[in-house]
Amino acid sequence: MGSRAAEQRQEARQLAARLTAEGVRNVALTWVDNAGIARVKTVPAERLAAAAERGVGMSPVFDVFTSDDAITASDHLGGPDGDLRLFPDLERVTTLAAQPGWAWAPADRYDQLGLPHPACQRQFARRMTERAAAAGLELRMGFETEWVVTRAPAGHPAATGADEPLDYPCTGPAYGMTRVVELSDYLRDVTEALSVQGIDVLQLHPEYAPGQFEVTTAPGDPVRAADDVVLVRETIRAVSVRHGLRASFAPSVVAGQVGNGCHLHLSLYRDGTSLHRTPDAPWGLAPDASAFLGGILGALPALLALGCPSPASYLRLQPSHWAGVYQCWGVENREAALRLITGAPDDPDGGHAEVKTFDAAANPYLAVGAVIAAGLHGIESATRLPEPQTGDPGVLGVRERARRGIVRLPATLTEAADRLEKSAPLYEAMGEVLHGAVLAVRRAEEAHFAESEDDAIAAATRWRW
Ligand code: GLU
Ligand code: MG
Repeated sequence: MGSRAAEQRQEARQLAARLTAEGVRNVALTWVDNAGIARVKTVPAERLAAAAERGVGMSPVFDVFTSDDAITASDHLGGPDGDLRLFPDLERVTTLAAQPGWAWAPADRYDQLGLPHPACQRQFARRMTERAAAAGLELRMGFETEWVVTRAPAGHPAATGADEPLDYPCTGPAYGMTRVVELSDYLRDVTEALSVQGIDVLQLHPEYAPGQFEVTTAPGDPVRAADDVVLVRETIRAVSVRHGLRASFAPSVVAGQVGNGCHLHLSLYRDGTSLHRTPDAPWGLAPDASAFLGGILGALPALLALGCPSPASYLRLQPSHWAGVYQCWGVENREAALRLITGAPDDPDGGHAEVKTFDAAANPYLAVGAVIAAGLHGIESATRLPEPQTGDPGVLGVRERARRGIVRLPATLTEAADRLEKSAPLYEAMGEVLHGAVLAVRRAEEAHFAESEDDAIAAATRWRW
């Protein structure tokens, strides 16, 4: 025990020395709050070993911060008392390509006695990954990142308002090569910064909405996937700043338009074998994979309170906007909330599923942890996937949707929060402290925007994530 601690101390010192020699001055330690905002403490590089040993102080009150920096309270959290320690994950320390002199590490939160903080979202994601492993399941996950880029306004960069004109630096059509030509230096710098930082970029393309792009990155274990999406977002933000641009990851940049999703891809393995490639099984899904996906599908109304956590999320969640607003699944169906991607038949590793409904206001650690919890509950309760849906449920009449058993997912944050409140499996998985803090934040966000018009909600949240 003692020698392991000494070894870790030695490794942390060597890492700090290497960073300093590379010219790194500061290390940003991030964690993501329940409103989906990456909060930070930074330490000088030479203090990294001390931070890894003793942690860095941060108040537990951030668990009940809302996206507009107001503070609410839950039964267990809120108020000025107490302190937590942020411990950087030294395995993930990354020198930041677009912030010279800076490195980054995701942090886990413990109390001052060294016990895990019960509302630590990153440890929740790890606990659920371990729970899956105890059931013999390995998960690979990855988030897509969509963002809208505008020119940074002259003057105060925080200037925002419902009537703020968005100044797009590209005018080309959706998915058009023109946009890539217009922003070729910027987009090259985004991909270069990501790959220098060890992020494996799979694709980058212009998306549907004005100024919108998407980057997809390689899957990894669930905690890594959540860390990666934080790093990807902050890297895009930093490259944007260096180009005089601004990146919005908000669910609804302009009310009424197609929004930014943050779809979660997942695949299941047992003993290194994909459960999406089972010979003779429907859609190649092994029974456990079918039950796991059935569990996710069934829990989607409650999961929305985690994956779509802002009133702005519900501006994005419109039928026929590719955001997956109906509780159904489909094979390669981009209007289904749960899309099965079968992949090329000769790809032994191919095949995975995509939760399309989630957006980037979600805390990604909560999203992956809750999806795993829902999937495992699906296996425990021997859930089966219903029939898949083809086509856009949004264009069917109410009667036809009812005939097919297709239900609309919550259309408001209140409804999603109510479903989370009643979800026994998610309550059990998250624990009372985390579950209660998330609900308190959701209720406060609802109350804050209760009287706001759609345009005002979009404007107020446009630059928050
Ligand atoms: N932007 C869409 C969304 O809100 C997704 C588009 C796509 O299918 O990638 O999720
Ligand atoms: Mg997309």
